[in-house]
Amino acid sequence: EQRYSDQPEFIQAAKEVLTTLQPALDRHPEYEKAGLLERLVEPERIVIFRVPWVDDSGKVQVNRGYRIQFNSAIGPYKGGLRLHPSVNLSILKFLGFEQVFKNSLTTLPMGGAKGGSDFDPKGKSDSEVMRFCQSFMTELVKHIGPDTDVPAGDIGTGGREIGYMFGQYKRLTNSWQSVLTGKGLSYGGSLARPEATGYGAVYFLLDMLKEKGDSIDGKTIVVSGSGNVAQYAIQKAEQLGGKVVTCSDSNGYVYDPEGIDFDLLCQIKQVERGRIKEYAERKAGVTYHEGERPWGEKCDIAMPCATQNELELDDAKKLVAGGCKYVVEGANMPTSTEATEYVMANGVYFAPGKAANAGGVATSGLEMSQNHEHLSWSFDEVDEKLHGIMDSIYAAASGAAKEYGHEGDLVFGANIAGFLKVADAMMAQGIC
Ligand code: NDP
Repeated sequence: EQRYSDQPEFIQAAKEVLTTLQPALDRHPEYEKAGLLERLVEPERIVIFRVPWVDDSGKVQVNRGYRIQFNSAIGPYKGGLRLHPSVNLSILKFLGFEQVFKNSLTTLPMGGAKGGSDFDPKGKSDSEVMRFCQSFMTELVKHIGPDTDVPAGDIGTGGREIGYMFGQYKRLTNSWQSVLTGKGLSYGGSLARPEATGYGAVYFLLDMLKEKGDSIDGKTIVVSGSGNVAQYAIQKAEQLGGKVVTCSDSNGYVYDPEGIDFDLLCQIKQVERGRIKEYAERKAGVTYHEGERPWGEKCDIAMPCATQNELELDDAKKLVAGGCKYVVEGANMPTSTEATEYVMANGVYFAPGKAANAGGVATSGLEMSQNHEHLSWSFDEVDEKLHGIMDSIYAAASGAAKEYGHEGDLVFGANIAGFLKVADAMMAQGIC
C-alpha cells in the first residue's frame, strides 16, 4: 500500500479484489511462492507521453497521454481510453486493474489495459478534438496493434474520437487493422456496440431478478449519468417494462415521473451534445435538481452509470431507506467501498461493474472477431451473443460465490471467477 500511497483509486480497487481472494489462495498455495499477487498488481508496462496540439486560436496546448498495459496473460491488452480533466495515473491504474478481471469474465481472450488523457473534449470544436486525437495517436501508434493492444472508448471518447484516432493510425501505418473498437459502422464497427454496455447491464439485472423470483416489469429504476452507458441502460430497461425516472450529468439530475423519454434524451445528448438540464426545460412535469445526485428518489433498482465513487455511504442509506432492492453498476466502481458494504448488509442484491458492465468490452471482442473474419454480423446476432455472454458472466460469478461459501455475494464471486483464469494463465507462462 505504501508503494502506491499516491494512488487512492488504485488502492481502493486493488483492496476490493485482494481482500476477497483468500479462499482461492488457500486452494492454490503455489501462487504465493510464484509471487502471483505481487505481479498481478504491477502493470506490465506504463507509457506516459506529451500530447501537443494547436487550438483554434493558434495557441499550442499540451496534455498528458497514458496507456497502462496491465496484464496480457490471457490475450492482447484491451481496454478503453478516457478523455477527462480528472484523468491521472491512479484512476487509469484502477480502471486497468478492474479491466483484467472483467475481460477474463467475458470468456473471450483479452488482457487488461486502460489509457487516456487529461484532455477535455467538452466545449472543444471538432477541429480541436481532431488535432488532439491525431497528436495522441502519433505516439500511441508505437505501443498498440491488433495482436498487441486494442484500445476502445470510455468517458469522453465516443465515435467521433475513435474515428479521428483510427484515421491517424491508418495514415501512420499504411494499413487497415482492427486496432481500435467502437469504430463507425462504415469502417469496421460492430452493430450493437454502442448499446452493448447499457444493454448488457440490464441483461445482467434480469438474471439477478430471476434468481430472486422477481421481474423488471413495473419496477422503478434510478439511473445516474446520461452518456453512452446510461442512455442504453435506460432504453433497454424501458423496452422490458421498467420505468426509469432519473438520469444526470456532473451538474445535476432530472426526475421524470412518466419515465425518461429515450428519444428526447438522445436528441439532447447525442445530436446536440447538450446538458441534462435541457431535458427538464423541454418536457412538462420534469424537475431538475442542480448539484444533486439522484439517489434520494424512491426506487426498486439503482443503476449508477456515470463515474467512480458517485454513490457514497449517505447515498446508500437513502437508497435503502427508499426501498431499493438491487444495485447494478453500469459504471466502473461507482459505489464507494463503504456504500457497497452498507447496501449489501441491508439486503440489497449488488452487482459489481466488472461483471455487470462487461458487455461493452465483450462486444468489442466481437467487433475484433468480425474484423478478423472480414464480416459483419447482424444486430440481432451480436445482441444475442451479448445476452449469452452476460448470462454466462452471471452464472460464473454466482456459481463461484456459491462454490466458495459466499452464496449471493456477486462481488466475491466475480473477483474469484475473474482471478482464477488469469492466475492459471500466469502460472502456465512462468515467471514473466
Ligand atoms: P460518457 O462520457 O458517454 O458519459 C459519462 C457520463 O457520466 C456523463 O453523463 C457525464 O456527465 C457523467 N460524469 C462523468 N464524470 C462525472 C463526474 N465526475 N461526476 C458526475 N458525473 C460524471 O461515458 P460512458 O457512458 O461511456 O461511461 C460511463 C461509465 O461507464 C464510466 O465509468 C466508464 O468507465 C464505464 N464503462 C463504459 C463502457 C462503455 O462501453 N462506454 C464500458 C464499461 C464501463 P458530464 O457530461 O457532466 O461529464
